[in-house]
Amino acid sequence: MLKGIGVSDGIGIGRVMILAEQSLDYTPKEITDVDAELARYRDAVDKFCDNTVEQANAIRQSTGDKEAEILEGHIAIIRDPFMGGEIENLIKANQCAEAAVDQICKMFIDMFSATGDDLTMQRAADVRDIRDGILGILLGVQEVKISDAPAGTVLVVKELTPSMTAGIKKENIVGIIAETGSQTSHSAILARALEIPAALSVPNATTAISSQEIVIVDGFKGNVLVAPDPSKIEEFTAKRTAYLREKRELETLRGKVTADADGNEYELFCNIGTPKDATKAMDADGEGVGLFRTEFLFMDRNQLPTEDEQFEAYKQASLIMKGKPVIIRTLDIGGDKEIPYLGLAKEENPFMGFRAIRYCLKNRDMFKSQIKAILRASAFGDIRIMFPLITAVDELRAGKELVEEAKADLKASGIAFDENIQVGVMTETAASGVIADLLAKEADFFSIGTNDLTGYTMAADRGNSDVSYLYSPLQPSVLRMIKRIIECGRAEGISVGMCGEAAASPTMIPLLISFGLTEFSVSAPSVLKVRKNIAKWTKAEADAVAEKVMAMTSEAEIKAYLESIV
Ligand code: PEP
Ligand code: MG
Repeated sequence: MLKGIGVSDGIGIGRVMILAEQSLDYTPKEITDVDAELARYRDAVDKFCDNTVEQANAIRQSTGDKEAEILEGHIAIIRDPFMGGEIENLIKANQCAEAAVDQICKMFIDMFSATGDDLTMQRAADVRDIRDGILGILLGVQEVKISDAPAGTVLVVKELTPSMTAGIKKENIVGIIAETGSQTSHSAILARALEIPAALSVPNATTAISSQEIVIVDGFKGNVLVAPDPSKIEEFTAKRTAYLREKRELETLRGKVTADADGNEYELFCNIGTPKDATKAMDADGEGVGLFRTEFLFMDRNQLPTEDEQFEAYKQASLIMKGKPVIIRTLDIGGDKEIPYLGLAKEENPFMGFRAIRYCLKNRDMFKSQIKAILRASAFGDIRIMFPLITAVDELRAGKELVEEAKADLKASGIAFDENIQVGVMTETAASGVIADLLAKEADFFSIGTNDLTGYTMAADRGNSDVSYLYSPLQPSVLRMIKRIIECGRAEGISVGMCGEAAASPTMIPLLISFGLTEFSVSAPSVLKVRKNIAKWTKAEADAVAEKVMAMTSEAEIKAYLESIV
């Protein structure tokens, strides 16, 4: 078995077509007629751009706008005056067009590859694709036609480039294996968009697998089984059938309301980390954003984002969500979330230390600029503010005071915002659970962060394998916390949601329905599954399950019981 990373769900079983590398070798030569060589280079670029537009149109039809834009990005890169200018400078210095293109592209590829950052490394793959395309045109190399691949083909390539993807016929290609690529590479995005099971970063795939061989691609795990025996083929065919059946079933829930079997409706939101993730939330049929983790805007950079930068990001998320609710959590740093340029002191016990709302309330300028950015964005949609790691009513009051100060500043400057913006609490500490009755009187909503709530209630660090047996939201103590938070919220008539991972857990869902949760916020791929799981339960059935569970004394017993009934 070969092992890579699974980037596009599904099982593909088929016959291998290896896309051999075409030779793009050339002999560098010194040219004398610079004008003629420049014209030859520019013609090649024009032809490359024309081909790319054609390929992008094909992708737009088969897959969608976003995927086409990836290819159209190639035109922007090669038409970039800096890159084009550098290539032309080399030609003007008497290098042939092939050498000039190769050399400058290589410089960019090396530069992007060296960053170690997934997104920037993707750029390297784009430039490689551009270089190969233009060199191919200059050298008159015929392109291999993936579009000729017969039905039941598993494509094996060194690197799956966006231009290759343009030729893929969804009905013929049942799997993709590549030697390079990551979860976030363009090849992964395209494979997912085409809904073709794919394993990337499979070492030596093009040499370890032979053409025409039968292979199984496990796009969930990234495994590749070469020449599998009949029992394996049977096993994976059954898996594929079950997966496709579930996928079809889930698709029927797209566009439907989220409701339990009695018809009681729930809000089903998504967790996002960047404004772009909002697109994933929309594509997944999310009904809003229940948690926008803003720390990602502060990471991967050397200084704080400005108020304007933040405003643009929050506004963009809200616009993408087309006015659906977007709950923006203020900066939640510290613990496992580091931002080096803030220069936070190393602490003995960072999870209990100077972090999240505690840090923000002591760094008022930074905090106010974030709140102002959120308020300004609230003029463009249904935006709500949420404070993380609240442990005392005073913290909520101090945060709300700052919101009022920020409102007054904006008003004085004549800047629009939502006067009635909701300010909620992320209930994720043991303290917030215990004082949920007090917090509920002053918060506009609660969202239960079970990832932290479990850790803080059980005093168990989920990263510590010695105590991980304690880290479970099904512990009687955590369930009591969750129940209490929901009941306290409901008693004051505020909405209570859950944005921790437990919200998507099939075993947890009947309990949450029974306790009275009204909003679930989950990762985009979980949306339809959660809608399906909520629809399974009537309130009476959920209540019966909850009654049994709340009488049980151990996590093991609770887990075994819930797993036996879902
Ligand atoms: C949580 O704590 O449950 C949560 C959703 O927030 P995060 O995982 O970002 O800490
Ligand atoms: Mg948390």
